[in-house]
Amino acid sequence: MSQRFILDPAVENDFPNFVTHLECSYTGEILPANQLHGLSPAGKPILVRYDLKALSNAVTKEELAKRPGGFWRYREFLPVRETKNIVSLGEVMTPLIPLRKLAGKGGELIVKDEGRLPTGSFKARGLALAVAMAKELGITRLAMPTNGNAGAAMAAYATHAGIETTIFCPDDTPEVNVSEIEYQGGKVYRVNGLINDCGKIVGEGKEPTGWFDCSTLKEPYRIEGKKTMGLELAEQLGWEVPDVIFYPTGGGTGLIGMWKAFEELEAIGWIGSKRPKMIAVQSTGCAPIVKAYEEGAEHAPLWENAFTHASGIRVPIAVGDFLILRAVRESGGFAIAVTDEAIDNAQAEAARVEGVLLCPEGAATYAAYKQSLVDGRIKSTDRAVLYNCATGLKYPMPPIARMLDKNQPIDYSKI
Ligand SMILES: *Cc1c(COP(=O)(O)O)cnc(C)c1O
Repeated sequence: MSQRFILDPAVENDFPNFVTHLECSYTGEILPANQLHGLSPAGKPILVRYDLKALSNAVTKEELAKRPGGFWRYREFLPVRETKNIVSLGEVMTPLIPLRKLAGKGGELIVKDEGRLPTGSFKARGLALAVAMAKELGITRLAMPTNGNAGAAMAAYATHAGIETTIFCPDDTPEVNVSEIEYQGGKVYRVNGLINDCGKIVGEGKEPTGWFDCSTLKEPYRIEGKKTMGLELAEQLGWEVPDVIFYPTGGGTGLIGMWKAFEELEAIGWIGSKRPKMIAVQSTGCAPIVKAYEEGAEHAPLWENAFTHASGIRVPIAVGDFLILRAVRESGGFAIAVTDEAIDNAQAEAARVEGVLLCPEGAATYAAYKQSLVDGRIKSTDRAVLYNCATGLKYPMPPIARMLDKNQPIDYSKI
């Protein structure tokens, strides 16, 4: 196959699909594929399972290497059956950017810059899959609670696919997110509450409106989209995993998805048994997972009065709490909280020293990296990957007041 540069679902061939069934992540209960599912009967997230043996016979690393960039290249690992249901807005393989000046002594610090994806965040991965599956299963109306980026990604992909969306966000969600949702065809409401309050509105609206609840982990497919972060990272590192991954954790979809990716890659023999330490990064103003991790608990109760300006990780309660904690513990990683002040300083430092503009949540991972080096919880020689989950351009930056009057003589010695 020659290199192709346009992914046009209308002209692509169908491809083999390896989904065998779905499974409750808590009880292991088996559920049929090709049907609409929200949470499992036990009220827990549902995972997609594949015939990995058949999958490994159907695709090779070499063949994969010839495909266009972007997460649809991993189509054998994804649940969409018919190619015509793929919804694409021009996904790219997100770059790995080494931060040589900020790395620990003798180690490597790499940013995976997810801000390059459509709608400027890694939410594109999960929502592209959720929307494609919604299309495949005949859903015509989607709803979700959002802190901003998920709503924007859902609106964009659903509009592209001809699906209606209704979206609820906290009233202090970054302006750019609220506007981009509506502008890209979504109907957005600001709610005087947090994301869990918005989630309640979506859940209670299912009966009267008939919309499908696309909340984080309340449908099976956003994890599959986020899983591609793990597939892509391993491929980019030559089918190896790094020593440590710092992940800004809200609902935890990405962390859970990457963990699933590594498990599937090992099962087909593409990577070995080495796993990165998975580090769940939260803000001290909203750290339910960190608290549960430190207490040795399996679940993380609601965090009261959640506050942080890293809005993507302001998630007071997560339905996949036990999956996040399980991955963190099995990997030998940990959960860590950083202050908003540390986030601001980290963001400013990465921008000033490396010319890399992180979003606040991405900056939280760099703050956590620094803190973990000081604590001795990671080694300076580690190869560490930070997830910059959204483009820094979506967030407010410090204003600049410096002026120059073109009508006055300019003293260049002062410039
Ligand atoms: C959604 C989001 C997160 C959290 O991602 P999860 O996988 O839901 O934990 C972090 N940062 C940003 C910018 C986000 O939009």
